[in-house]
Amino acid sequence: MVGGIEAGGTKFVCGVGSGPEDLESIEIPTTSPHELLPRVADFFRAHAGLKAVGIGSFGPVDPRPSSPTFGFITSTPKPGWAHFDLAGAVRAALGVPVAFDTDVNAAALGEHRWGAAQGLNTFLYVTVGTGIGGGAMVEGQLHHGRLHPEMGHIRIPHDRAVDPFPGVCPFHGDCLEGLASAVALEARWGRAPHLLRDRAAWALEAVYLAHGVANWMATLSPELVILGGGIMRREGLLELVRAEVVALVNGYVEVAPVVAPALGARSGVLGALALAEAINNCG
Ligand code: ZN
Repeated sequence: MVGGIEAGGTKFVCGVGSGPEDLESIEIPTTSPHELLPRVADFFRAHAGLKAVGIGSFGPVDPRPSSPTFGFITSTPKPGWAHFDLAGAVRAALGVPVAFDTDVNAAALGEHRWGAAQGLNTFLYVTVGTGIGGGAMVEGQLHHGRLHPEMGHIRIPHDRAVDPFPGVCPFHGDCLEGLASAVALEARWGRAPHLLRDRAAWALEAVYLAHGVANWMATLSPELVILGGGIMRREGLLELVRAEVVALVNGYVEVAPVVAPALGARSGVLGALALAEAINNCG
């Protein structure tokens, strides 16, 4: 049996099992590492025979196995977590091998193994929530590059005559995340996204997200784009984004399908299980 951790900025989802059918999971609020880690360890210690743990983490992170800071969360503004050795802490607490990647790469792997991307070689998993981030499988491998992609921080057209909102990204202002994350929606419209009913607000959101999708499609030629995260659960938003992507691509190439995650909110924790399975099979 293997374990998986979806390490998010607001909650950790810890699970054990071998796939969607027998996944047993709990959620623990992301407080300080000092307070959270013992609770994580208690959950896994209650399951005898644990062979390995996979972690899909919020970031930025260091996912390079050869790096001295492999498994660290790097420059997060979240108190207590900057430069924290998350993989090392879990390994030390449980005494088993630990696999580590970004939350979105883990979610991509989960969808590849059991969800919407089964049998595909090149596809994207993008989350639209508190932040915006994307994971990519390219030619059958999870893509890292120098560190990992930061798909939410691309620049997109921003017409200040239509939308004078300056954006909320502390680094870039009006990058995609700065304009279209849940934090941006709440700051621009003055209410939480789940209370936002204004059609114009969602139409604008769809335009921004579609610019992201069209740019990622032009760059990586994915066979599929999966859009997950809390904001994408808004009824009708996925259809609006699809229509805007088709309009933006304008017939130049065939537009890849844009779909919701088949595993719902469980892509991340299931993907973390798949990470653990891979490291366990490697011995
Ligand atoms: Zn940014």
